[in-house]
Amino acid sequence: MSAIEGLLLDIDGVLAVSWEPLPGAVEAMTSLRAEGVPFRLITNTTTHTRRDLAATLAEAGFEVDANEIVTAVTATASYLREHHPGGRAFVLTDGAPDEDLAGVPIAGTAREADVIVIGGACDAFTYETMNGIFRRLMDGVALVGMHRNLYWKTAQGWELDGGAYIAGLEEASGTSAVICGKPASTYFRTALALLGVPAARAAMVGDDITNDIEGARAAGMTGVLVRTGKFREADLAKGSPDVVLDSLADVPGWLRGA
Ligand SMILES: [Mg+2]
Repeated sequence: MSAIEGLLLDIDGVLAVSWEPLPGAVEAMTSLRAEGVPFRLITNTTTHTRRDLAATLAEAGFEVDANEIVTAVTATASYLREHHPGGRAFVLTDGAPDEDLAGVPIAGTAREADVIVIGGACDAFTYETMNGIFRRLMDGVALVGMHRNLYWKTAQGWELDGGAYIAGLEEASGTSAVICGKPASTYFRTALALLGVPAARAAMVGDDITNDIEGARAAGMTGVLVRTGKFREADLAKGSPDVVLDSLADVPGWLRGA
């Protein structure tokens, strides 16, 4: 019997790139379901609500329920409700994550904010906006990151992500951001609770050596790195994946032999 009883799967770069399914990914998910392997999707994607993600994945051929997905946005909302109750958050991110941030008071500008929240990067990350945030951080306002992703990959090529801006803001202001999505252990624990499998018997399948693999391993899980999405050979020197597979398509076979 396999030592691994359940999986957490990353979405972008593992199931799909630019929402086009990766070869064999749909079939792999079908076979996991057929074999009764429980899994949940854990993503740092900030452009979609869980409902939109489920719908977009369905269009790409993946049958997933919104309740099977945890996002960095929902994790951020939980964190803000617990640690900054009633605080006005200035949220700089791609997409419009209103639905998953429901209940969090939103500030229109950094000046009015009690807490600064950085998500996925986009054209709104201008000098003026970043400088407004920097000034608030110098006033002692807290910095929260939906995640710390440095970059991702689309059909167009490499994309610089919010984590790079967080690093710059931290360095300049001397503050440290609290990260709510991957690689935070609390985020993996939330997803594991939903999965109903303890960390020691669960594996994380991801294309990001730092946020997916090292994050999951720090939370006590097995880290399975796939050579799709943002993967580069040089990543192998940046962490210690327990397993390296060519793609999600190889996961069902690996589980049978694991
Ligand atoms: Mg990914």
